Amino acid sequence: MCWRLGLLPNLSTSSTPDVPVAGAVLVGYSVALSIVVNRLGLRNCWRYLAGSVVVLATGWIVGAKFFAVDLLLLPLLLSGSLSLLFTQVDRLWSLDRQFARTLLNAPVTNADSIVGANERLASGLKLLNTVLPLNEAVVFTCAESNTLEPVVRYKSPAPNPQDPRRNAVWREGVRLCQHAASTGKLMSHKTQESATVAVPLLHEGETAGVLLIRPGSEFSDDDIPLLEAVGSQFARNLKRESFSKNPARTQSLNYFSQTGNKRKLDALNVLKALTVEQRCEARTLAHIEDGIAIAYLDGTLALVNPSLLLFAGLNSDKAVELDLFGLLHRFRTDVFDEPEIAVRRVLQTGVAYEGELNFEHKNQILNLRISLLRERQREPIGIAVYVKDLTAQKEYEKLKSDMISLMSHELRTPLTSINGFAELLTQDQTLPPQAREFVSIIANESQRMSRMINTFLSVTQLERKDKQEVLKIPLRLDEVVRDTIASLQPVAKKKRIRLIEQPAHRIPPVAADRSLIMQAVKNLVNNAIKYSPERTTVTVSTALEAETVRVCVEDRGYGIPAEAKERVWDKFYRVVREGQEKDEESTGLGLSFVREVVEQHGGQVELDSEEGRGSKFSFTLPRL
Ligand code: ADP
Repeated sequence: MCWRLGLLPNLSTSSTPDVPVAGAVLVGYSVALSIVVNRLGLRNCWRYLAGSVVVLATGWIVGAKFFAVDLLLLPLLLSGSLSLLFTQVDRLWSLDRQFARTLLNAPVTNADSIVGANERLASGLKLLNTVLPLNEAVVFTCAESNTLEPVVRYKSPAPNPQDPRRNAVWREGVRLCQHAASTGKLMSHKTQESATVAVPLLHEGETAGVLLIRPGSEFSDDDIPLLEAVGSQFARNLKRESFSKNPARTQSLNYFSQTGNKRKLDALNVLKALTVEQRCEARTLAHIEDGIAIAYLDGTLALVNPSLLLFAGLNSDKAVELDLFGLLHRFRTDVFDEPEIAVRRVLQTGVAYEGELNFEHKNQILNLRISLLRERQREPIGIAVYVKDLTAQKEYEKLKSDMISLMSHELRTPLTSINGFAELLTQDQTLPPQAREFVSIIANESQRMSRMINTFLSVTQLERKDKQEVLKIPLRLDEVVRDTIASLQPVAKKKRIRLIEQPAHRIPPVAADRSLIMQAVKNLVNNAIKYSPERTTVTVSTALEAETVRVCVEDRGYGIPAEAKERVWDKFYRVVREGQEKDEESTGLGLSFVREVVEQHGGQVELDSEEGRGSKFSFTLPRL
């Protein structure tokens, strides 16, 4: 129309630029376009492209109309379009290479299971045989040429006696399998003597293989869901196996290759199969009695199991709106009053937080654990919250300790009389010497027994006390140490042990019950003397540490084997040492008393020991 109306000049009369100039302009324009597209992307640069076309067209009209020069609009547009096309293809191609590399490596790195596919198939057939007795079962895989290849076979140990129709039956089975593979539907063929069933192994709508079975008992339609469920697991195994067996050829031309793209699809399917299997693990958590929640590192909750919801007093609708802190705030108590600090410490140090939470109004004691989840022991990927109900266990422990202390009380009365009368008899000069000896043994042993019962009672009584119940007054630990050392010097001297105090300056007082702390230090020093050879040194020191005061008893004695270190604090636990005869005074209660006293005062006990070289028992108490 423009030409008809005479708006556009006649091109046949225009001159064209020289070939080198035209070539340079075409190349320059194409290169400029490709740079712009590479930099900005096709979508972002369309305004520039349209602008350049408008400028070119205007220039061309002006050139042709006023200067009779053809400015090569069509070649420019053509070269520009080609340049755009190639640039875009190149960009997509390089992205595709990156995508293929990530995708094809993903299933391999994700596969944690080391059990091979064939073993898993064989195990699957065994399981199937347990729930549905089989005469024979074969798993076929679909090979590339759409033929079926048997991979695993199961045969009942007591097969039918030589069946003359075996080959015909086999052919019939294979035909049934081909039919099942092509239609994707379960096929069965029943005769009077037996049934043959072909189950297509479907994964993501694709047939990975076929399971052919000849059930031992009668096959009913109720068994179909079972076969389909086992079949889907078989399909996942086959897909994974065929993917790992079929290595990628070249990745550079994947973008244009059908096989290459199919392989990417396979990789995606294998990944999906893995996700299905991993979902099994997550589903299991729903059925356990302990509370479990998993949160991602952005605080979103990935999973909260019903038990945890119950502990938190929430219903599942509320849980959807919660994040990690919202959930943890439901467990706030005086010992766990700032969940943010606990989580921050876990993230900073990687060390799990653990605390015992007592909800008195609900009469419930819970153990709470917050730990960091790591991907293959390295990168943090989430936070796990684990809650266990200790109420029943604590009640049981209390009942046990109540019973034991009741029994001990009952034992004390007859023991006192035994001891009293035995002591009286030892004074009786009319008794023959041997009888007197026996009586004095009775007196000593009954005394030892009442000492044991007394220590035991004091430990159990302490255990049942609340922290507030212990009478606390300001107490200088260095003075307690000095007094204890003075009272135990005679015992140390008997064994020629040097018992010394390491001088300390300016030790602040602590809030404590003097007699309990004194007894605890006495137990530690007594042990140090008891479990050290003659002519060694026992050092007792007091030191100020940030917010606590530490008392440390160090000896050069027998030491404690590594495996016993945790247990020495337990009631009645005694370390068995070769060549050391049984100590009359040893009850295994001394250290548990120390721990109980220290914990009642809000402190902590510590043990550092090396067998044969000595031990260092210490405890800390909060300073005033
Ligand atoms: P016991 O009445 O047997 O001394 P404790 O509870 O005080 O009971 O100690 C438990 C065990 O720990 C003892 O059997 C002993 O073997 C070991 N033990 C305690 N203190 C020391 C020490 N200083 N050196 C070596 N072993 C020790």
